[in-house]
Amino acid sequence: MKPRPFHYLEPASSDEALALLADHGPAARILAGGQSLVPLMNMRLVHPQVLIDVNRLAALEFIRQEDGALVVGALTRHYQLESSQLARSVCPLVSEAVRWVGYPAIRMRGTFGGSLAHADPTAELPLVFVCLGGTATLAAHDRTRTVAAADLLRGPFTTAIAPAELLIDVRLPAMPATAGYAFQEYSRRYGGAALVAVAAVMEVEASGKVASARLGIGGVGPTPIRLPEEEALLAGAEPTEEAFHDLAQRVASRIDPGSDVHASAAFRRQLARALVARVLTDSHASALARRAQ
Ligand SMILES: Cc1cc2nc3c(=O)[nH]c(=O)nc-3n(C[C@H](O)[C@H](O)[C@H](O)COP(=O)(O)OP(=O)(O)OC[C@H]3O[C@@H](n4cnc5c(N)ncnc54)[C@H](O)[C@@H]3O)c2cc1C
Repeated sequence: MKPRPFHYLEPASSDEALALLADHGPAARILAGGQSLVPLMNMRLVHPQVLIDVNRLAALEFIRQEDGALVVGALTRHYQLESSQLARSVCPLVSEAVRWVGYPAIRMRGTFGGSLAHADPTAELPLVFVCLGGTATLAAHDRTRTVAAADLLRGPFTTAIAPAELLIDVRLPAMPATAGYAFQEYSRRYGGAALVAVAAVMEVEASGKVASARLGIGGVGPTPIRLPEEEALLAGAEPTEEAFHDLAQRVASRIDPGSDVHASAAFRRQLARALVARVLTDSHASALARRAQ
């Protein structure tokens, strides 16, 4: 299928893009990598009257370290994040997770900003954003505001980004140099959307005990979620297989995944249990290795 007719606008600066967004309001949509929006338009599930193509806004395409955070411009392509040495040294969880997004052709075009704005509950980058407690900068023609991860993602394919706002950048707190990390997901086919995805960051004591952990899961609710109760239980825990499996069991019993044509709730619960146990084991091993460096 082909999309309904639309007006195509190609601003040369962020200011021009913001002015166009202010003029056209909800009738307009931003076009970034087009990897989610264009299929939706072709299927006529979305039909903007005006398409504002931001691909010429080079100022939104950057990766830098600033004030203890990795700052990623909204137009940064997935492959740029994947190959960034800076991202790998400041925030290696995001480098690990972005490799799971689709396949190389998708990662060549898709952008970090597009992934957050699209807000697919199974997507990898929103999960990392929530797990690490990131913030997003949103600009309109007359204001700029910063929104925390928990407030940005409101539901499946729904965010706090207003029609006149442009996502400018994403800030991810720098991970401690000795923190271990792991990302795992299960999808039915190579490059397909995850049924369930899990991310973890863990610091360990010299004894090997868990010092602190961050744990996030996607695909089991309307948005990716952090698991603060399980994180609190992990602090000070012995890193045994049994402890990690008990914690994974606890997560599986507390989540409330849905059933659809792709998988039953019971299967998603089973995946959650297996993947949580795996990321806890892997992030612990990663933390030991990074401490030893
Ligand atoms: C075959 C296939 C497989 C895929 N597999 C995965 C996968 O495994 N994991 C995954 O996460 N994604 C996957 N994707 C989607 C891909 O990651 C997209 O790149 C991403 O979801 C959207 O990024 P984009 O830059 O393409 O955004 P677009 O498609 O251009 O836009 C998506 C939405 O975000 C809005 N938007 C974009 N940029 C901004 C901005 N700066 N400010 C405000 N709003 C904005 C647009 O208006 C639109 O509503 C897949 C896509 C395809 C086609």
